[in-house]
Amino acid sequence: MTDGDRSVCQLASEVQSGKLSATSSVEIALGRAEEISSLNALLWVSKEEALAHAAALDERQRRGETLGPLAGVPIAIKDALCVTDTPTAAASKVLTQDGKNYSTAWRPGYDATVVERLRKADAIVIGKANMDEFAMGSSNENSAFGVVKNPWDPTRIPGGSSGGSAACVAAGCTPAALGSDTGGSIRQPASHCGVVGVKPSYGRVSRFGLIAYGSSLDQVGPMTSDVRGAARVLQVIAGPDNRDSTCSTEPVGQYEQACEREIRGLRVGVPREYFAEGLEPAVREVITRVIDNLRAQGAQIVDVSLPHTQYGISAYYLIATAEASSNLSRFDGVRFGLRVQQQNDLARTYEQTRGAGFGAEVKRRIMLGTYALSAGYYDAYYQKAQRVRTLIRNDFDLAFTRADVLITPASPTAAFPIGEKTSDPLKMYLADVYSVPASLAGLAGICVPAGFEAQAEKRLPVGVQLLAPPFAEERLFTVAAAWERESPVRSVRPT
Ligand code: GLN
Repeated sequence: MTDGDRSVCQLASEVQSGKLSATSSVEIALGRAEEISSLNALLWVSKEEALAHAAALDERQRRGETLGPLAGVPIAIKDALCVTDTPTAAASKVLTQDGKNYSTAWRPGYDATVVERLRKADAIVIGKANMDEFAMGSSNENSAFGVVKNPWDPTRIPGGSSGGSAACVAAGCTPAALGSDTGGSIRQPASHCGVVGVKPSYGRVSRFGLIAYGSSLDQVGPMTSDVRGAARVLQVIAGPDNRDSTCSTEPVGQYEQACEREIRGLRVGVPREYFAEGLEPAVREVITRVIDNLRAQGAQIVDVSLPHTQYGISAYYLIATAEASSNLSRFDGVRFGLRVQQQNDLARTYEQTRGAGFGAEVKRRIMLGTYALSAGYYDAYYQKAQRVRTLIRNDFDLAFTRADVLITPASPTAAFPIGEKTSDPLKMYLADVYSVPASLAGLAGICVPAGFEAQAEKRLPVGVQLLAPPFAEERLFTVAAAWERESPVRSVRPT
């Protein structure tokens, strides 16, 4: 085991027991961050703050205090989340002061609730992770601060939009990172980078301090090197928050305990529409092996159908863009970041600031979303998409009468080469075919490393997605941990 390979729980227990100091834990992460800087996974490293925080933890440990469940665990935070006095730009130039440099980005005066909870559990924020601008993308190529490279093969994308978080964990820099998932942004990069990613149920985790993209879809979740680590981080960040009224008061489960349960008798549904045309045969093979393993462990495998799956992408890209067009109206050159000043002309200040500050994909989405919401087209597009959303939700409700969890690929392919889909947005959107339906339905989802696909001499990770009804995250942890225990892939790391 190299220093960077400790899991969340190993690291926390070593720091709690005094076997490893929080300072060493942070130094290992900082050293690794430097080694992997060419991946461009981190936009900002909070070196001094992290070391000062670690020293304070070590001091408390020496005084005999019991440290929290994430004692000394270094964590990277997706740049869409607010961290006090730390640059926060959702990887957009519109949130920088000078329209260029990340170091001039807006620095919030407060922590997002999830960050505050991590700190309360004695985790250490190590820096800000790169992402697609405003979380719009599936490849991290839409970051205003450069693409992130996949640690398994730097000529390929890490997935998106939480590509920096995924790469940071995969490269052994931190055992955990936070991502956000609107239509797959945690699960898909987890799949492409060979890490665990959890998209909690809609409302499970507070979004206070998350820069909003699609408010009826957004969720914050953990990305970690193993399943138990994800369980622990989710345990810390989940639960009601009086600063986010959309955050549910539904009781939080016992996620680590759920990792111990047997899967014998559990019904695992295989939705046939997720194994149809478009799925790469090598990915299908990997997923089939996972299904066989779960069957051998005593799970009952059942066929289910989700007949409206094919409409998921269209509905999602109408709803998400409509919500984004409204959410992004706050970046107007007055309230935050960049201002391209026009003498005494407010409208032109708005236009020029937004014209200069937003990237091409973000502009495309604002235009699509504004169009879908405009008076003459609202019924034809937005409302229709909402109806489709209900049908998709109904499909899942029915499937969950026959199955406790569903198993699917997370993405139709392994990580694709950088540049392959940038000229064709539709092709890029289609990469989300297996992740958006669960988002539209507000389900809980996890992506776990499932195996590898060989491309030339490189091995590329492939993830498997498990889905459960809203607030049934425990089931995901049970099945994911059962697979992980027997999985031959868990100890394979990128070199
Ligand atoms: N790729 C999807 C999009 O671009 C999902 C992104 C996300 O989940 N934030 O909208």
